[in-house]
Formats: sequence, structure tokens, C-alpha cells
Amino acid sequence: MKKIKSPWYGVVWIVIWTAALVWFLSSGMFNQRESIGLILVWAIMVGITVFLLIQHLRVQMKQTREPVKPANVKPSLNGPCPCGSGKKYKRCCAGKEG
Ligand SMILES: [Zn+2]
Repeated sequence: MKKIKSPWYGVVWIVIWTAALVWFLSSGMFNQRESIGLILVWAIMVGITVFLLIQHLRVQMKQTREPVKPANVKPSLNGPCPCGSGKKYKRCCAGKEG
């Protein structure tokens, strides 16, 4: 089973709440005061969801901005050069870098 942690579930909830709100308001079951209460509840729910969504996206952006660098393993200076020239690394590519 996949972990349900996608922030887009929040978007789905916003759509559901908005649809429910529109349906409640258009049904005529609620007077003006009750309608305002419904809108307030909707706004709070949507606000929380948007907040969580932004938090999630921020974490994701931070992770993509700082990719994990592969360990820069330096070959031994007296060892064979990794370029395959057959020379010692210090006599070959070591001098070309930096
Ligand atoms: Zn080399």
C-alpha cells in the first residue's frame, strides 16, 4: 500500500468542501446568519488545508533545491589515474583540476 501523504489530497478536500458549501447555500436550507457561519467554517477548513499544502510544498522545494551530492572521492595521488592514461594521478589529471 502506498502511503497517503500527497498534498493533493488537500486540493481534493478543498473541492469537496467548496462543492458542499455551494450546495448548502443554494439549497435554501439556511438563513443568512447560518450561511455566514457555514462560510466561516469553510474558510477555516480551506485555510488549514492551504497552509498544510504550502508547508508541504516548501519542504519539497527545499529538498529539490539541495540535492544530495555524491561523495567526491579523490583518487590517491600516487595511484593510477582514473582517466585510464596509465600515469600516476598526480602526474596526470590531478594537476589539471584546480
Ligand atoms: Zn588522467
